Amino acid sequence: MWKIIGHDWAVQLLEASINQGNIANAYLLTGPDGVGKRTLALEMARALCCTGHPRPCDECDNCRAVIRGSHPDVLVIGPQDGSIKIDQVRELRRRAMLAPHRSRYKIYIITDAETATPEAANSLLKTLEEPPKHLVLILTASNADALLPTIVSRCQVINLRPVPLSTIEKALRERWDIQAEEATFLAHVSTGCPGVAIKLAQDEGLRDKREREIKTLLEILKGDVIDRFEWAASASRDPTTAQEMLERWLTIWRDMLLLAEGRRDWVVNLDFVDELGKAVEQMGKEALFKGLRETCSTVQALKKNANLRLALEVLMLNLPCTRA
Ligand SMILES: [Zn+2]
Repeated sequence: MWKIIGHDWAVQLLEASINQGNIANAYLLTGPDGVGKRTLALEMARALCCTGHPRPCDECDNCRAVIRGSHPDVLVIGPQDGSIKIDQVRELRRRAMLAPHRSRYKIYIITDAETATPEAANSLLKTLEEPPKHLVLILTASNADALLPTIVSRCQVINLRPVPLSTIEKALRERWDIQAEEATFLAHVSTGCPGVAIKLAQDEGLRDKREREIKTLLEILKGDVIDRFEWAASASRDPTTAQEMLERWLTIWRDMLLLAEGRRDWVVNLDFVDELGKAVEQMGKEALFKGLRETCSTVQALKKNANLRLALEVLMLNLPCTRA
C-alpha cells in the first residue's frame, strides 16, 4: 500500500506505469513544502524495488530496506548548507553507472533540486541526456520554473496540489491516532500540506513558535510607533525568524479578511479565531487589505535582499492599528 496522504491520481498514474513496465527515466515532483513530494518519491522507490504483491507490499525485504533508508539501490540526496553541490552530483553519476545490487532499477532521489548550483545542474543535465537504462531519477522542487528548462523537458512532471483538508483530517485521526478536534486544527493550519500538519503534531517547539508569531502581530497592531520600532530593532537581529514570522502573518491577514467576509469555515488559524475576530471589528476591511498588501510587499522585498531593519521599520509605519 502506498503510504501517502492524498494525491490518489498521482499514485494511480505511477502504479499504472510500474505495472505496465512503462517507467520514465526521470520524474519531477513539484509542489509546496510538506505537500508530500519526498514521501511520494520514496513510495515510488519502494514500489519499484518491491518483490511482493501488491506493490509496495510492506512485507518484503526490499520494502523494509527502503523504509529503513538502507536499500543499496535507493539513494536520496538533498541540499548541503543550502545547495546541491557538484561533488554530490558527480558521486551520484559515478554510482548510477554501476548495475543495481538487488533490484531491476536504481532509484536516485534528488530533493530541492532547485537549489543545485549551476555546475551541479549542468552535471545533472548530462545524466538526464544519457541515462543508464537501469536508472530512475526522481527530482523534487517547489516549482518547475525554478529549474533549467532543459532539465524539466527530460522529466515526466507531476505537480502535487494541496490535499483537501478533510483528507488530511481523516488520515491524522486514523493513521496517527490524533483526536478529532486536534486533527481539524492541524489540517487547517497545514493549508493542505500533510507534512506541515504532522510536523506540528510532533514538535511542541514548532507550535509555540507559531503561537508567538501570531501573538506578536496582535500586539504590534495594538502598539504605538515606539513599541513597533523597538520590535523592528530586535526582530532584525535574526533574519530567518523574522522572515518566517512575516510568512505566518500573511496567513493571519488572510484569515482576518475571510472573517470580515463571514467565512469563518475557511480560517486557517482556528485557535485564534476569537482574537482575530475582535481585531477585524476594530480595523475594518480597508485596513485589512492594507495590512495584507504591506506584509506581502515586505516579504517580497526581503526575498530580493532588502535591508531587513529598514524593511521592518517601513512595515511598522504602514501597518494599521487596533487602538481606539
Ligand atoms: Zn514489498
